[in-house]
Amino acid sequence: MASQKVSLACTICGSRNYTVMLSKDRTVRLAVKKYCSHCGQHTLHQQTK
Ligand SMILES: [Zn+2]
Repeated sequence: MASQKVSLACTICGSRNYTVMLSKDRTVRLAVKKYCSHCGQHTLHQQTK
């Protein structure tokens, strides 16, 4: 199955702090809580296109 590289951006400051590999048939937008060094706290990171 093919996969694509997507960035996870902080929903507070917009910094793209993480990249993950996702399968291409994934339709749901990924959103996870991760540490943002810019905000200095754990924030929600959302998949960017
Ligand atoms: Zn942030």
